Amino acid sequence: MNQHIRPEPVPFIDIGAQRRRLGSAIDEAVTKVLNHCQFINGPEVTRLEADLAAFCGAKHVVACASGTDALLMVLMAKNIGPGDAVLCPSFTFCATGEVVALAGATPVFVDVDEATFNMDAESLKRGIATAKKLGLRVKAVIPVDLFGQPADHDAVAAVAKAEGIFVLDDAAQGFGATYKGKRLGTLALATATSFFPAKPLGCFGDGGAIFTDDANLAEALRSVRVHGAGSDRYDNVRLGLTGRLDTMQAAVLIEKLKIFPDEIEARNKVAQRYADGLKDVVKVPQVTTGNVSVWAQYVIRLPKGVDRTAFGDALKAQGVPTAIYYPKSMHQQTAYKHFPVVEGGLPVSERLSQDVIALPMHAYLDAAAQDRVIKAVRDAVKS
Ligand SMILES: *Cc1c(COP(=O)(O)O)cnc(C)c1O
Repeated sequence: MNQHIRPEPVPFIDIGAQRRRLGSAIDEAVTKVLNHCQFINGPEVTRLEADLAAFCGAKHVVACASGTDALLMVLMAKNIGPGDAVLCPSFTFCATGEVVALAGATPVFVDVDEATFNMDAESLKRGIATAKKLGLRVKAVIPVDLFGQPADHDAVAAVAKAEGIFVLDDAAQGFGATYKGKRLGTLALATATSFFPAKPLGCFGDGGAIFTDDANLAEALRSVRVHGAGSDRYDNVRLGLTGRLDTMQAAVLIEKLKIFPDEIEARNKVAQRYADGLKDVVKVPQVTTGNVSVWAQYVIRLPKGVDRTAFGDALKAQGVPTAIYYPKSMHQQTAYKHFPVVEGGLPVSERLSQDVIALPMHAYLDAAAQDRVIKAVRDAVKS
């Protein structure tokens, strides 16, 4: 019998490998929570907030229920609402603009930079002008650290300062990354992240956190986190949410944060190896000098003439999964089509949505598996 045995598919992300590495640490941490029974606001939540503050250098950390809540809570604490404009990139995960609309304000979509996929400061300036022409009060901007690479924070901050608006950094994919030697978490008035399992630092369910150096904002966020509570528990002073991170997830994250710096290094080795093996056949992602990406995704761009669906199918046949982030920019999606976009449009976002495709990326991708991915990509581009 000449049976051809296919190797197992390469995992797109590998949460199992990380779990094996951590051994019994997480089991023990979770068991502790099961034994003390403080499932809400247990000691692990406070401990995690302190550990995260030490990790990124932010003065205040408010753990919460998801990355989406983290973003929304900042807008709520800052009283963003009807008539207000918040500038967002269109090429991002939908939550970035969704929270603006949920707060009752208007997301105004601007374009991204072709090399980094992150917010283009020139488009941001034009978007602010567009928002003003529409009679909106421009209040904030949400740069996104897309796919793990820090946004152009100095450029965004300069525009924000000139306009007197605040910056909310959507670091759901970028937490752990470094911008000019600083970890994300202190580069904006507030930084939001997500601990969804597939993010670089993920828990075993939903979770998120907000980072800020502003004590008043931190206090307002803690109030929003629990239904807008004031000092008198039954006199709520604002609208809020059930926005807490549960103790079990905090216990998991405390253990995972210990190995996170090492995982960031491993992800960067994987990215370097991809770049070396692929840069002559596809557009590999560019990291700006001075930045360290945390590689939430490894997103390549296909050359003109390569059909993306056929490419994905060819890789799948070789046991290599792919994913498309994002096939539609926000301004092209049904729920967001009616919101304003920057004058002149968003040609880069629209181009990217056509030709990007993500390859498997995680800290436990060994050289042999990676070579399979590289070979599959090279074969598919050439055929
Ligand atoms: C994942 C993600 C979010 C939302 O995080 P959740 O924890 O899933 O709510 C927000 N923004 C971006 C850019 C994301 O990738």
